[in-house]
Amino acid sequence: MSRIVKGFNLFIVCCVLTFSIFPQTQSRNRVAGTAAAQCSPVAPRAAEVRAAGDEAYMKFRGDTGGKNADYIPVLAKVDPKLFGIGIISTDNQTYSRGDVQYFFSIQSISKVFTLALALNELGPDAVFQKIGSEATGRPFNSVEAVADMPTHTGNPMVNAGAIATVSLISGTADEKWNKILAFYSQAAGEKLTMLDDVYKSEAATNQGNRALAALLVKYNRIYADPEESVDVYTKQCSVGVNTKQLAMMGATLANNGVNPATGVRVIKAENIPYILAAMSTAGLYDSSGAWAWHVGLPAKSGVGGGIVAVAPGKGAVAAFAPPLDEAGNSVKAQKAIKYVEQKLDYDVFSPRSVGLGAGALPARARRAHRPGLLRCLERRSTIRPLRF
Ligand code: GLN
Repeated sequence: MSRIVKGFNLFIVCCVLTFSIFPQTQSRNRVAGTAAAQCSPVAPRAAEVRAAGDEAYMKFRGDTGGKNADYIPVLAKVDPKLFGIGIISTDNQTYSRGDVQYFFSIQSISKVFTLALALNELGPDAVFQKIGSEATGRPFNSVEAVADMPTHTGNPMVNAGAIATVSLISGTADEKWNKILAFYSQAAGEKLTMLDDVYKSEAATNQGNRALAALLVKYNRIYADPEESVDVYTKQCSVGVNTKQLAMMGATLANNGVNPATGVRVIKAENIPYILAAMSTAGLYDSSGAWAWHVGLPAKSGVGGGIVAVAPGKGAVAAFAPPLDEAGNSVKAQKAIKYVEQKLDYDVFSPRSVGLGAGALPARARRAHRPGLLRCLERRSTIRPLRF
């Protein structure tokens, strides 16, 4: 008799696990196009997210390390005390704290989304062949990185590769720019605009990027007019985002290309791994190796002070604070994201990130996956996103 009961229990566990492991397949038709389109069994619990975010905010808000970027003059004037953290899960639970409504320039984080647009248009093989994906190990604006590489390939996350990526987008310069802005807005789930003062300030001082574009011409690695490509690139870097919008853009990547709030597919699902791979190799420029070592999340920084990190299937953590380190990455944003990542077991290189603890595996796995599973079950009955 107890065998029968055990067998029955096993059957129930299997059913539940199947349901838990393949929730997206099961939910796709039912709630496609709604805010609850995705339902991840590995999305974190609301209380854990809130605790991690609050602790990170309190711990680092007084940090005075780093210095605002000043090679784009207007960035030097941004209040260095601004600090915000945003966390959004793939099932659209949102957490934010601090100066999360402040609009800062997206800067190099834009590179991620122009890459996504180029991939949507051309597919991964063409983009890989025309741009490349090698870590340069050099600063983001390095000329040597272009000249030294025997094949002169680059990485879409550093300036030369990013300007070349812009050149791949189809249409006139205006059409490219309009497409890029509309695409970023879809990823953010809200209409974004360019910060005019940032654009003017950067356009007046971007001789370095123009030199990079000229070098790309020499090596046949730019695919449209170089001056126009730099101009569109400068515009895309000047797009204003707040920390919540940036977190949503990251959550769209985490959610396999579907914006978790609007339910709109923005990025083709098959391209997500390529984008995250490029972010992992050079998202934090010449400190990307250290970031991978200590944090273990694909991420992208911008000299405006923003960083967004993506935990595939789970969500995104964005932070904003203007003072930067030597490599051009926000000091406080790095610390805050690292803290949150460790609290939530987000490190993609760690088996813990999928529930494999050092100790008793089944118990740990159950603990890690159950909340998501319960939420999925709840979602199926209410089809209403949880908010916190
Ligand atoms: N617009 C900036 C530049 O081209 C972007 C650099 C960055 O954010 N690292 O220099």
